[in-house]
Amino acid sequence: MAQKLARRGIYAGSFDPITLGHLDIITRASHIFDEVIVAVGVNTAKISILTVAERMDLLKKVCKGIRNVRIDSFEGLVADYALSQKATALVRGLRSEADFAYEMPMAQANRTLASSIETVFIPAGKEYCYISSSLVREVVTFGGSVAALVPPIVSRKLSEKMVKRKSLR
Ligand code: ADP
Repeated sequence: MAQKLARRGIYAGSFDPITLGHLDIITRASHIFDEVIVAVGVNTAKISILTVAERMDLLKKVCKGIRNVRIDSFEGLVADYALSQKATALVRGLRSEADFAYEMPMAQANRTLASSIETVFIPAGKEYCYISSSLVREVVTFGGSVAALVPPIVSRKLSEKMVKRKSLR
C-alpha cells in the first residue's frame, strides 16, 4: 500500500509579535495537520517592533509544548515557500469580514501561483477576534499592559524592549 503523505500546513505571518490569537490558530492547526510550519515572513518594507530573530525565538518558546510545530522564516512569495516545503495547505485565521475581504483574493492568487496548495481558514476564537499584532504594538508603545493579548513571555520581552528604548533616548 502506498505510504500516506504527511499533511503539512504553513501558517505564515509577521508575528510582530505572536499574540494569543495566533497561538490559538497554531494549536488548532496542529490538530488538523501532521506538521505545522509557523513561518515568519521577512518584509524589510514594514516597520517592526521585534527583529525576525526575536520573533522566531518567542515563537519557539511559546510553541515549545506543541510537538508537531516547527518555526521557520522565509523571504519572497509564500506560494513559492509553500512549494519548497512540499506543503499541503496555507493556514489563515479569520477574525472578521475585513479579514475575509483581504484573505479571499490572497487565497485565489496563491492557488493560481501554486495550484497544489489549498488555503485553509480557521475562524478566530471568539475571545481573540479583536486581537492583532498592531494593537499590541500600539498599546506597548504607549506604555499599556498587553498581558491579556499575548503570552506572558512575549509581554516580558516587549516590556524589556521598551525599557531599553527609553534608556537610549
Ligand atoms: P500580517 O502581519 O502578515 O498581516 P499576522 O501575523 O498579523 O500577519 O497574521 C497572520 C495570520 O494570522 C492571518 O491569517 C491573520 O488573519 C491571522 N490572525 C492574526 N491575528 C489573529 C487572531 N487574533 N485570531 C485569529 N487569527 C489571527
